[in-house]
This record gives sequence, C-alpha cells and structure tokens, in this order.
Amino acid sequence: MKVFIETDLEGISGVSRAEMVADSHRYALERLMADTNAAVRGAIDAGAERVFVLDGHGGGKNFIPGLLDPRAEQTGIDRVKEADLCFIIGMHAMAGTQNAFLDHTQSSVSWHHYRVNGRRYGECGQLAAYAGAYGIPLGMVSGDFAACAEARAMLGNIETASVKQADGRNRAVCLPEEEAEALIHDAAYRAVKRKEEFRPLTILTPAVVEVEFNRCDYADAARNRRPSLERIDGYTLRRVVPEIREYGDLLI
Ligand SMILES: [Zn+2]
Repeated sequence: MKVFIETDLEGISGVSRAEMVADSHRYALERLMADTNAAVRGAIDAGAERVFVLDGHGGGKNFIPGLLDPRAEQTGIDRVKEADLCFIIGMHAMAGTQNAFLDHTQSSVSWHHYRVNGRRYGECGQLAAYAGAYGIPLGMVSGDFAACAEARAMLGNIETASVKQADGRNRAVCLPEEEAEALIHDAAYRAVKRKEEFRPLTILTPAVVEVEFNRCDYADAARNRRPSLERIDGYTLRRVVPEIREYGDLLI
C-alpha cells in the first residue's frame, strides 16, 4: 500500500496571514513540515508501506531540510502513478471561492476561472483528475474549511481535516497546532483504512481544458507561449486533450 501526498502552503495550519505565504515565513514552512509529517504518521500508523511526498507549492523549495519524517520519500508529481491512494496537505479553495483563505487556481494574478469539460475545478480537482486518470483516488485533504468543503463537494465522503477558517481572503483563524496535527493524523489514518470506499475522479476524454484569464494581455501571453491554444474570447483560451497522461495535460 503506497500513499502519495501532495503539499501546498496556503492551507497549512497556523498560516493565518497572506504575507506568511508570500514571504515564505519560517513559521509557515515549519508548520508545512508539521502538517505533512502528521499525515505521514497517520498513513504509516494505518498500515501504509511507502509514503511519497511532493513539495508542491510554487517552485517546490519549501521543505526544511532534515525535518521531513525520514520514513517518507520526497518525490516528483509523476510518482502519483505508482500510488494506491492520494492525499493533499495544505490545500486552498479554487479561484472565486468566497470566505476562503487565499483562494486561487494556479495563478493568483492571472487565472480567473479554470474549467474542464465546462465544469469549474481548483487545484484539488486537478490532482484528483490526474491521479484519477491512473485509477487512483484522492482520499484525504487538509486545508481551510472552504478547501475541505470543495473537496467533499467534488469527491463525496472523503476524509478532510479543516485546520482553519478564513476571515475574508487574506486572514484566517487557526486551530491550535497540536489540534490541527491530530486532525490531520486521524484523517490520514482513516483514509488509509477506508481506501476501498473511494472512487477515482474520472474526466471524460477528449477533455476540453479552459482558462479564463482576468486580463486580455495574460491570455495574449499564454497564447504566445503555446500558439496551438484556441482563443475563445478576449479572456479565454482552450485546448482539447485527447487523454490525460501528465499533470501538464490539465494546464494551459
Ligand atoms: Zn496551490
């Protein structure tokens, strides 16, 4: 039994202000390690034999060397394909979600809406769709209340650990550290035990992947980088993906 854990920073426990993410505060990175390790412990306590962990925020240089539970293996996103079950630690809600801490999808600056086959998804949906293409379910998500609600709305009765509640977009009220870690550990533990109950997210292919940018020049720039993208209107680019094979197939 192998578990793949993707991490992000916005939905990490104790991260209560936008600046803590923007400036990669030491405390935010320490909490990233604590939340991640709580999930690793939960998975291993429940019987997982291997745990792969992806440092998934920004360029992926957030982990503090020496602080990841040594039983976990740090990895790239492709390792999803080898796993039996996926988790996301530190997730945030999709762009446009109200009362969500630092809601965005991929780019806080330029992406307004992201859709696959006409339905809006966030980053949680993107990982679920990528893993789902290989038959692997997403069974556990931690993050703010809105991120957890989004995950359950999309995937049904998966395990979630809500470690904070947004107060507007740029502030959050956080659970005490130990309480957050216990929630994450227990949700990870239950997810491994309940593995057979979860279904992979299946995206019908060929899939129509669309990004609505919030300014025309952002759409211009994206199309200059990839001229094969279809321009739908001033804000919107789209492409048709015959099959989802790589994570990048879900991006523009
Ligand atoms: Zn993110």
